[in-house]
Amino acid sequence: MSAIAPGFRSGYVAIVGRPNVGKSTLLNRLVGAKISIVSPRPQTTRHRVRGILTTEDAQLVFVDTPGFQTLHGGALNRALNRSVVRTLEDVDVALVVVEALRFNAGDRQVMELLKRDRPAILAINKVDLVKDKGLLLPFIQQAAESYPFAEIVPISAEKGAGLEDLLATIRRHLPEGPPLYDPGEMTDASERFLASELLREKLFRLLGEELPYATTVVVEEFKDEGDLKRIHAVIYVEKDSQKAIVIGRKGEKLKEIASQARLDMERLFGTKVFLDVWVKVRRGWSDDERMLKSLGFDV
Ligand code: GDP
Ligand code: MG
Repeated sequence: MSAIAPGFRSGYVAIVGRPNVGKSTLLNRLVGAKISIVSPRPQTTRHRVRGILTTEDAQLVFVDTPGFQTLHGGALNRALNRSVVRTLEDVDVALVVVEALRFNAGDRQVMELLKRDRPAILAINKVDLVKDKGLLLPFIQQAAESYPFAEIVPISAEKGAGLEDLLATIRRHLPEGPPLYDPGEMTDASERFLASELLREKLFRLLGEELPYATTVVVEEFKDEGDLKRIHAVIYVEKDSQKAIVIGRKGEKLKEIASQARLDMERLFGTKVFLDVWVKVRRGWSDDERMLKSLGFDV
């Protein structure tokens, strides 16, 4: 082991916030790679994904959480919420993300989950959308009154604004200690998991309103063959009618989904990818605890 620079800090940072505030965008931006899927629809992140950022003087291990869900009471959502609470018990700093000028009951619910015995830093995201910057200061004051945040930092995850400041702020609240992961690593998620996330993202981007919530992806086979990866994935849906939509006329939709996912995989893995995707019906998967467990959720 090489010597660790004096003053080096490291720790776990949970990114929490109601759906759609920009948590995944922020994580990807900070870590510099597409490791958490982003979509304009809420609740596309279902698993905890770690992004690792190693700088000269710190290592931040980010934990992306699923958006705290209150809309539905199914087994899937119960599992999602439990996962947020568990994550918060386990980190050094909670990074709470809200949207600038949009603070609602969902945000308040997230704050109720925070542990008062450790620092919470508030990132006010999407400041690029605020036309009248004069409205930001009162919003910051209002946020400061809603919870004893250690610090408040305005950012734009999408434009990359305020992120240096955010990193320095988080670092100040981490304990001194050596890196927790190999500094060359960006994530501890497996390539197999990343492949399923990239495919799932395409479902969110390319299918209509409700359908993506009724689908899930399982990677059945992931084989390294030199500079080729052979990946076999199954998209599970709830009903035959949904299967027809995912496949599309003459298979066009599925072809588009698979080819976009393949391109993202090739970019991320830096190899050729042979991707084979099937669509299968499994009734009630999203309210079936056994199925969820087999997919790796905490239920
Ligand atoms: P999550 O559900 O909290 O993980 O949110 P996502 O990262 O999936 O982002 C939700 C939506 O907000 C996406 O359409 C993003 O492109 C968008 N978004 C995220 N950050 C910003 C930002 O700083 N500015 C703007 N204008 N949009 C953003
Ligand atoms: Mg997300």
